[in-house]
Amino acid sequence: MKKKQFKTESKKILDLMINSVYTNRDIFLRELISNASDAIDKLYYKSLTDRKVKLDKDDFCIRIDVDKENRVLTITDNGIGMTEQELDDNLGIIAKSGSSLFKEMNEKKKDVNIIGQFGVGFYSAFMVAKEIRVLSRAYGSDKAYLWVSDGADGYTITEASKEEVGTEIKLYLKDNTETENYDEYLEPRRIEGIVKKYSDYVKYPIIMKKEETKIKDDADKNNDEEVKTETVVEDKTLNSMIPIWKKSEDEVTQEEYNAFYSDKFYDFEAPIKTIHSKVEGQVSYDALLFIPGHVPYDYYTKEYEKGLQLYSNGVLIMDKCADLLPDYFSFVKGLVDSEDISLNLSREMLQQDRQLKVIARSIEKKIKATLEDILKNDRVGYEKFFDAFGMQLKYGIYSSYGMNNDTLKDLLLFYSSRDKKRITLREYVDNMKDGQDKIYYASGESIDKIDLLPNVERFKEKDYEVLYLCDYVDEFTIQALMEYDGKKFANVASEDVSLDTPEEKEALEKKNEEAKDMFSLMKESLPEVKTIKFTNKLKNHPVCLSTEGNISLEMQKIMNSMPTGEDVKAEIVLEINENHPIVDKLKDLYENDKDKLGDYTKILYNQARLIEGLSVENPTELTNLICDIMSK
Ligand code: ADP
Repeated sequence: MKKKQFKTESKKILDLMINSVYTNRDIFLRELISNASDAIDKLYYKSLTDRKVKLDKDDFCIRIDVDKENRVLTITDNGIGMTEQELDDNLGIIAKSGSSLFKEMNEKKKDVNIIGQFGVGFYSAFMVAKEIRVLSRAYGSDKAYLWVSDGADGYTITEASKEEVGTEIKLYLKDNTETENYDEYLEPRRIEGIVKKYSDYVKYPIIMKKEETKIKDDADKNNDEEVKTETVVEDKTLNSMIPIWKKSEDEVTQEEYNAFYSDKFYDFEAPIKTIHSKVEGQVSYDALLFIPGHVPYDYYTKEYEKGLQLYSNGVLIMDKCADLLPDYFSFVKGLVDSEDISLNLSREMLQQDRQLKVIARSIEKKIKATLEDILKNDRVGYEKFFDAFGMQLKYGIYSSYGMNNDTLKDLLLFYSSRDKKRITLREYVDNMKDGQDKIYYASGESIDKIDLLPNVERFKEKDYEVLYLCDYVDEFTIQALMEYDGKKFANVASEDVSLDTPEEKEALEKKNEEAKDMFSLMKESLPEVKTIKFTNKLKNHPVCLSTEGNISLEMQKIMNSMPTGEDVKAEIVLEINENHPIVDKLKDLYENDKDKLGDYTKILYNQARLIEGLSVENPTELTNLICDIMSK
């Protein structure tokens, strides 16, 4: 019989898995139980929604059997089962997103942690098994199939027979070595411990045969000293079957929440925050929500699907209900269980469902309040959160043209020139100088680069706090916000932002007026520049750039770098330090050597571009001009 090979990516991931990517190999059992439970869910759901299917909830169970002699551990479920095709599709490739996982891993230089973010579930069994046999019969079929694999060498699928619908998975445990003992998975007590720890909430009974020591019924009741016992083997249900979200908060430890989270959402890093809320009222529901501790590998891609699991009284009806989360909180993972949601809710009806809307609104409030609480009481934790998902909050403001401002504005952080760390807008406004009526910001590639900008220097000198924006969405976000607490935002590189007194302003205007003709001539060599003028903003630097209107240089750079972006032009102003010796030189050239004035102007302008971190359009011309002057 010809062996089928695992898809290439799967094989590589498989190698990683088997060579113990997970430090904790116990989790293989949780993965298999979780699959079994999902399979039962599917069949149970059928029985609830399809009148032709007559099944009773109490008939469903997951069995674990231990065969010490042959060193085989068997996990059996009477769920929906798999057809031949499904065995091939589902167990032949590793997680549906296998290929993108592999790409990601290559990019991240084989960061093996990322594997934990995937449903590699079934394959984790190869951490403990040298061979796995999956015997499955799909619901509605009278044929069964056997899938066999040793992990490394591909797999075979053959027709087989099986009395009941469902799936039986046999793990032939690896041989013990000097350092590794796999026999532990043949110890009922060990199995029970793992089930209790990771799968306690599974809502179907997980049953195992267990030896119990019992007092013999026929023991001589009068003889206290010698109580007779016997050992009986009987079925024991290992799990409590109460979903974790149905328990009250004080019954559940953080460790249990974390274990549940990593099981359900394939994330092996603990969440930053767990929100467990029970709401009774107009609509009643239980929600268990998690804010992840890091960005999921695909979060900022199109592939990422937001949503919460939706349960109707304990029965899963949708895996990712997108309507329960606004886009700006799309990073939240978790579930909602409500008796008020109909089991037969279709995707189309969902959007109009009033109850669902009420729940969504209430959840949004809850998430917001939780984030505010972290911000207030755990700044370090909040910064970690913001590093991961701050971009999404900013995007939420920018993409809704300001509609979500009220929800999100107090959750934002920006780097402060004064505190040298990130602050909120509230903190900025509370610390404004007397008479200051604007929130100043500067944008650029990095904090360090912004800090060196000539425009920023003067604000710092006069002890104005400046927010440094270096995420590409920052400035767009600020523009969508428009104002905070009645204070408008102002880019320090905007030509009309000035810290001058009226007298200073007047003096400067006069100087500009006097040099008007010189500037017009200079402009002839710089068609892309709208205005050239003197400034008193600069201390030591000869020149800087600013812009008129709404589009800053940074925004121009970003918008033009977008694939669809049309050619956006900022209205550029070249500002020359009126106190710099170069001014005398310019005036001299204007009087005596008008041709040279154009060359000097070009050099000055390109210097200003370099300072701003912008590219120089014609580097050859620039270097030739400089060399010309140097060689004189
Ligand atoms: P995941 O559970 O994350 O999808 P797995 O590798 O654990 O990834 O399983 C792959 C698929 O195989 C499952 O999505 C499911 O369709 C199928 N499967 C696994 N175990 C069972 C089972 N016991 N009964 C029915 N289908 C199963």
